[in-house]
Amino acid sequence: MRLASAIVQPYRASPEQLALVARGYARIFPDSTETRDLARRMHRNPLEHVRRLVIECTSRCNYSCSHCYNAGVERTTETKLEALSSAIDTFAGMGVREFAFIGGEVTKYGDGWLDLAEKARGTGAAIVSVLSNGWFLGGEDFEAAGRRYPDDDAYLRDLKAHGVTHVGFSIDGRREAHDASRGIPGFYRPSPQLTIKANGELATCRLADAGEGYGNIHERPLLDILNGMQDSFIYRLHAGRRIGEYLCLVDPDVFGRRFAHLCALRAVTTMIARRMHDQFVEPDDAEGVARINREVALVTGRTAGHAMS
Ligand code: SF4
Repeated sequence: MRLASAIVQPYRASPEQLALVARGYARIFPDSTETRDLARRMHRNPLEHVRRLVIECTSRCNYSCSHCYNAGVERTTETKLEALSSAIDTFAGMGVREFAFIGGEVTKYGDGWLDLAEKARGTGAAIVSVLSNGWFLGGEDFEAAGRRYPDDDAYLRDLKAHGVTHVGFSIDGRREAHDASRGIPGFYRPSPQLTIKANGELATCRLADAGEGYGNIHERPLLDILNGMQDSFIYRLHAGRRIGEYLCLVDPDVFGRRFAHLCALRAVTTMIARRMHDQFVEPDDAEGVARINREVALVTGRTAGHAMS
């Protein structure tokens, strides 16, 4: 009999060997087994390069994306959490230090996954990640995997408290491509490019003034502005999909009835909304709204004559 571990050893039934065998780290082979075959077995160990364990807690999802690899599979959620917990122990014992939780949409349907994440982190894992379609971003008073949260911020804090180190969001491309493939409007994503304008404003749009409102580097440190982007009025306006509330306030007598490009309409509407917010002008304040329309037209150089297509 021989004992196979990192090397092939004669089996002596020593306490150390017995302990390795008991934990599944070594196996006993008959004497007739060729040493060369055992060595080859070790060199070709299929687990030798495993560094990461991905746990699909559920195949259920609140989206039905056209490209979904799970589209045809049965929708189910793993309920044997003890088995997954034990699997985490096993892989951690093998030196795995990265655990990823996926679905389906694990953050919505993966009841118990957060406890598993905490367990994984407790094994000393360097990375505990979760992949989400971002359904909870901007949400309030929602249930996520059996727990209730007042908003997305509270949820993200809870993920952190349970040892989650990384949260990944699936983005399929630019807004149009993303929304088309997901069949559902995505969460708000500012432009992948930021612009520092000549007046010091941090903007998301290089061409229009629509991105202004995140902050001005002449007034605040850039890091402050970046860390507080989510709290700015402009971000909340777009992330909360409230821009539509202001569309009817764009005055056609000032800007014309048609815009040459959707971006221009979006820019003007954004600027009107921001000024109304800054100047405490309510939508039913016709005089205030008219004044702000004229101000925006002056700043952008867009009057009925310029904006007509
Ligand atoms: S969000 Fe992911 S799991 Fe859900 S339907 Fe889309 S691709 Fe499939």
